[in-house]
Amino acid sequence: MSYFSDMQVVEWWHMPFLSFDQDIPDQFSATMIGWLGDKVSSKGELPHSILEKLEWAYDHRLFDQGFLGCHECEICCNYSDRGEILIEDNQNMYVAPRMILHYIKEHRYLPPEVFVNALNHLIIDQLDKKADL
Ligand SMILES: [Zn+2]
Repeated sequence: MSYFSDMQVVEWWHMPFLSFDQDIPDQFSATMIGWLGDKVSSKGELPHSILEKLEWAYDHRLFDQGFLGCHECEICCNYSDRGEILIEDNQNMYVAPRMILHYIKEHRYLPPEVFVNALNHLIIDQLDKKADL
């Protein structure tokens, strides 16, 4: 799997037809989160309420470049996943591999605080919208 340091900004692209939201631009500047490679850069305990929101995002904020295929966890070589999660906040587009959930649960990876905050904001918005329906 690709390695990027946390908060590294790269030009990213995706296949809109594979995405949860087809209005996302085909190409955009992405802030990379959780592309760990073979070691955990930052460890700690993610609050349970945030973990639940990430689990929600894992199912509902999925997008994909289509051809990357499965990523294997290079830390334990015991788990694989595919696709990315997009979290938007304050005009930042955070892109994490779906594997991030495994990194957090199994390897105690702790993402940067701005990403934790972004997750918090976004999902609350989404759940509010749902509650209004
Ligand atoms: Zn692993």
